Amino acid sequence: MAGEIRLAGVRKTFGKVEAVKDLDLLVQEAEFLVLLGPSGCGKTTTLRCIAGLERVDKGKVFIGGRDVTELPPAKRGIAMVFQSYAVFPHMTVEKNIGFGLRMRHLPKEEIKKAVREVAELLQIGELLDRYPSQLSGGQRQRVAVARAIVMKPDVLLMDEPLSNLDALLRLQMRAELKRLHREVGTTTVYVTHDQIEALSLGDRIAVMREGEIVQLDTPNEVYDKPATVFVGGFIGTPPMNFLSAQVRSRDERVYLAVGDFPVEVHAEWEGKLRDMVGKTLILGIRAENIEVRPTAEEGALPAQLIVAEPLGPQQLLTVQVDRDILKVATSPDLSAQPGQTIGLVLTKEKIRLFSEETEKALKLE
Ligand code: ATP
Repeated sequence: MAGEIRLAGVRKTFGKVEAVKDLDLLVQEAEFLVLLGPSGCGKTTTLRCIAGLERVDKGKVFIGGRDVTELPPAKRGIAMVFQSYAVFPHMTVEKNIGFGLRMRHLPKEEIKKAVREVAELLQIGELLDRYPSQLSGGQRQRVAVARAIVMKPDVLLMDEPLSNLDALLRLQMRAELKRLHREVGTTTVYVTHDQIEALSLGDRIAVMREGEIVQLDTPNEVYDKPATVFVGGFIGTPPMNFLSAQVRSRDERVYLAVGDFPVEVHAEWEGKLRDMVGKTLILGIRAENIEVRPTAEEGALPAQLIVAEPLGPQQLLTVQVDRDILKVATSPDLSAQPGQTIGLVLTKEKIRLFSEETEKALKLE
């Protein structure tokens, strides 16, 4: 468990800014944990507290069960990769990767072997004699990752390592990092504001907002069961749709009303919702969990089509339902004209309900 990381009540302020507020977090050995959130939410500060690049105001940092709160970065068994590749321009790739091992005064042959192995792992074995100026951005970032990995750290910390790369390279490197983690198994904490990157890479994602973790779950859970309206709206392309819905009852049945149109709820939820009859809730549903009917038929929510965007494998509709605007993913075969009224059927099992006051998900299961 050398790679387990634990933050206990960590707080870091800069003047009046509370960058990290009493944060508790446990990252398991060999886990790939992503810190995700909008700009300024405290991701980088959290990472820097783990690294020892920031002194915490309060709380403790443990790595591998050892209290490292007062230790400098070099004594924490960590390696870091930043957004700026920070490779030494005057050294060859081989010298760059071997730099840390030379500082440790390891025998030359041993360094050479370790550098070769890591370079192969990152598919830059052919580039060892080149200088950074002779490399592409993606290759330079691989050198930076290789230089971190070769140290066999207990913990690998990465801060937006792909954000300087173009879209295609980002995609390739994302898959590479995932493969690398599977092969090396180093506990990794990865900071990004890119939710697709987070969903793709993380074993778990910690979604941060204003210095706090608002949800810590697997990518599927964060996507399917956001803990708050903020998480649902931050994750997913398009983000989760939100509608205003009132809890009503008729003939012993409890249902939701969007405008005046009834939407059925999960039978198991009815009991809990019965106490809320008359209350307005926020109904969340993802674009792909709405079925489209070409006309407003019985049992479907009537919606007015505003725009249809063909996106290859699917078509993205923007529609208006009562006073809310929704995004709906449907088959490219559906042909409907802007202004036309269509019908929507929300997949019952995929509906999420949130309190209007706290914007937190209701516990109905
Ligand atoms: P980004 O994605 O933009 O890098 P982030 O989520 O990583 O954002 P942090 O860099 O951790 O956010 O910053 C959190 C808050 O702390 C911000 O309000 C930021 O302005 C503030 N902050 C960070 N570092 C310092 C500093 N050295 N001095 C003063 N304020 C700082």
